[in-house]
Amino acid sequence: MNLDLLKTPAPTITALTAPFWKAAEEGRLSIQHCEECDAHVFYPRPICPHCWSDKLVWKDASGRATLKSFSVVHKPGHPGWLPIVPYTVGVVELEEGPTMLAFILRDAGDELDVGAAVHIVPTRISGRNMPAFKQS
Ligand SMILES: [Zn+2]
Repeated sequence: MNLDLLKTPAPTITALTAPFWKAAEEGRLSIQHCEECDAHVFYPRPICPHCWSDKLVWKDASGRATLKSFSVVHKPGHPGWLPIVPYTVGVVELEEGPTMLAFILRDAGDELDVGAAVHIVPTRISGRNMPAFKQS
């Protein structure tokens, strides 16, 4: 099924998260970077969780990551996801350091391994570009 046709609840865009979603619409993964301590930060925050500086700027991430964990969803938390069950979500550790929960794209029969290299595949899900990942 075309994931763009799903009728799922979409994340709320706020002033803090708007740069992330604008980049996503352009097919980029943008995360915050702390100019004070050089750490990358995700999810979006008003201050750095490492040094409490507010000198956070948006930078494009490489889109390369490692699969830290995943789960195959058979009973989704919202009925909008039912047309595509079972589907996979995973926690990926970005090359820049932060982790994020993301949709994992799999072809039928694809094996997934924790620790595998994955890369971003901007994917339209329910009318919005989302940073999905696929095993490299
Ligand atoms: Zn910092």
